[in-house]
This record gives sequence, C-alpha cells and structure tokens, in this order.
Amino acid sequence: LFISLEGIDGSGKSTQARLLAEALRAAGRDPVLTREPGGSPGAEEIRHLLLKGDTGRWSAETECLLFTAARRDHVERTIAPALEAGRPVITDRFADSTRVYQGTTRGDLREMVDALHASAIRLEPDLTLVIDMDPARAHARAHAREEASAGAETRFEAFGLPFQQVLREGFRALAQQFPERCLLIDGDRAPEKVAEDIAALVLQRLAQ
Ligand code: C5P
Repeated sequence: LFISLEGIDGSGKSTQARLLAEALRAAGRDPVLTREPGGSPGAEEIRHLLLKGDTGRWSAETECLLFTAARRDHVERTIAPALEAGRPVITDRFADSTRVYQGTTRGDLREMVDALHASAIRLEPDLTLVIDMDPARAHARAHAREEASAGAETRFEAFGLPFQQVLREGFRALAQQFPERCLLIDGDRAPEKVAEDIAALVLQRLAQ
C-alpha cells in the first residue's frame, strides 16, 4: 500500500506521517517512512539545491524539472523496492505537492507538471490523505517551527499567509479531482485525534 500525506506548510503532515508509521509498526507491519522533496540520497541532494538559497534561483520550469528528477530517483531507489518487498510506504508529500505548488502557484505550469509525471513517474499513491486546516493556524505553527530551528530547509517565509490560502484551495480542488484515492482530513483538531482517524483508515485498507 502506497500512502501519501499532503497539505500546506504547518498542517502537521510530518507529525502525522510519523504517527502513522508508529501505528503500523504497533500493528505488526514494517512500513517505510519517507518524504519529498528527498527520500533517497540523490533526491535529498536535489532537495538541498531546491530549498537552500534564494527562492528566485530557479525558474518555475527548472524547478518542475528538479522536483521531477528528485521524484524519479525517490521512486526508483526507495518507493518501488519497498512496495515490491510488500512493505507499506508512507510518504510526506508526493506528486500532488508538485501539482499544487508548481502546477498552480508559479505560473500555470500544470500541463508541464502532468506531462512530466506521465513520462517520468507514472505512479500514484493508493491512498492520499490531504490534511486540510486553517492557513492562519498552520502559518502560526510553521512560523514557530522556523524560529525554533534557524536555517531550516523551508521556503515558508518566502511564501507567507496569502499564498498558503491559495495552496489550501489547490489541495482541496485536487482532492475533488482524484476522489478515488484522496481523502480530506480535518487537521484543525488535536494531533492525536487526527492520528487516530488516519490509523483507523489505513489499517482498514490494509485489512482489505
Ligand atoms: O514539506 P517540507 O516542509 O519538507 O517542504 C519543504 C519546503 O518546500 C516547504 O516550504 C514547501 O512549501 C516547499 N515545497 C514546494 N514545492 C513542492 C514541495 C515542497 O515548494 N512540490
């Protein structure tokens, strides 16, 4: 089972991905927990190229190519081997992030994003959990995290609150576009409550 977690910065995706991996381990499974951009040594290097330095360093098109190159390596080296070994894979972000971030917010590059996905990736999660929450609360959370870890690899401050609102709408639209695999999760609750719902959903899917 290939599961992705998606959502805006500060939505709690990474915490939820970790808690889900713990819940699966407690249920006797052996999940692989991974993330994007990154998730394999080569893709982590590309992550560094993308997130360090000026946001204006790459054009929107070049950025799409870099995200796709990173994803290809991540799929080849980490995701596909784990799935072939029968292990559940949980990824903190996947192609939907590129559809929303690069495909709608930096010029309308969705056509390019879709063409790159169709030619170089051709893999979709079985289940995508879109953590939906108030951007102002997510913003406060991401901001606090950024203050706590100076130099963290996030472009959050460059983006800001109005941008996060656009992103939230983008993720909600995407969940409607792919209803067969996407589930909208209410992230405006205590993290433990959110985690309980997610674990129940995923364990049910694994039992099918
Ligand atoms: O999820 P994470 O915090 O690791 O993402 C790192 C940064 O990269 C975030 O600031 C996120 O907004 C940005 N990002 C992006 N395009 C993507 C995925 C992530 O701009 N496709």
